Amino acid sequence: MHRSYRKPSNDTIAEEYVTAHIIDGAKIAEDIRNQVKREAAALKAKSGITPGLATVLVGDNPASHAYVRSKRKTTADLGLESFGYEMPKETTQAEVVALVRRLSADPKVHGILVQLPLPAHISEEAVLGEVALDKDVDGFNPINIGKLGMKNRSPTFAPCTPAGVIELLERTGTPLEGANAVVLGRSNIVGLPLSLLLLGRNATVTVCHSRTRDIAPLTRAADILVAAIGRTRFVTAHMVKPGAVVIDVGINEIADASKKSGKRLVGDVDFDAVKEVAGAITPVPGGVGPMTIAMLMRNTIRAAEIATAKCT
Ligand code: NAP
Repeated sequence: MHRSYRKPSNDTIAEEYVTAHIIDGAKIAEDIRNQVKREAAALKAKSGITPGLATVLVGDNPASHAYVRSKRKTTADLGLESFGYEMPKETTQAEVVALVRRLSADPKVHGILVQLPLPAHISEEAVLGEVALDKDVDGFNPINIGKLGMKNRSPTFAPCTPAGVIELLERTGTPLEGANAVVLGRSNIVGLPLSLLLLGRNATVTVCHSRTRDIAPLTRAADILVAAIGRTRFVTAHMVKPGAVVIDVGINEIADASKKSGKRLVGDVDFDAVKEVAGAITPVPGGVGPMTIAMLMRNTIRAAEIATAKCT
């Protein structure tokens, strides 16, 4: 792994750092997408099967619509079949459950993605529990999440953003076994499953959340620090151990008069300051973000392979 921290030569000389290795998530995600495209073509040539991903979107949340559009576009770009289902916000839980059951039984559909959050009157657990385990490419069926937390059990699929973080760490050669990993955030979507994935790879994991007291001493002990809290530039340089690998999952919008849109995206980490201390760091945008869809595409190919193996 690229470690840019240089030890001070003696106590009287100020510590010397060189800038961190910038982990290029956009490039790594592109490599994964290209691999998926090749695998999809090979599967089609061999078995006549086109991997298919169904997306289920309920309601009119603009961000959810944008995410689903982007997922469907990538699906089509890679030569996968995309089945889109959009339902109005008044749709009942029973109707969504019925659709997911139908998709779970449809042989043309290999992966099912239910875009979260669902409207408040629909239980996520009830709907996600209906996604067939072998089609659960988002990894949110409660059984898959449960297996993630159990020793010597593996879920069929792990949630895409946390899996993308692990992929970035592994591809940059970051040792996970025995490493002190600190995860900021414990959400069902990112922080919690990521902590379980790190634990499963024998890291020593500390999970911090909004009730954690005095976070900085904890983060300063981290070999691997992952920020997933949705707070603009929360992680400052003094919170980071020299040479640590810092993964920024956060996506926050800030005003920027120099942009045509008047805004831009930043992470949970003060990138400019932290890159002077860390050994490696992901930027926002261009770090974890592109990995999420890439991992979804990879999971969809794997789901199609599972289905094909069952038929032969
Ligand atoms: P979330 O559901 O709002 O969870 C935020 C977590 O951060 C909670 O566990 C919360 O603690 C904790 N937290 C909030 N403020 C804190 C503070 N001041 N100190 C310590 N912990 C604090 O958010 P999420 O869905 O996990 O998303 C987190 C960030 O990642 C967001 O910026 C989101 O946009 C981004 N994200 C990016 C991707 C991607 O593809 N790159 C994917 C998903 C999410 P409590 O549990 O105590 O409330």
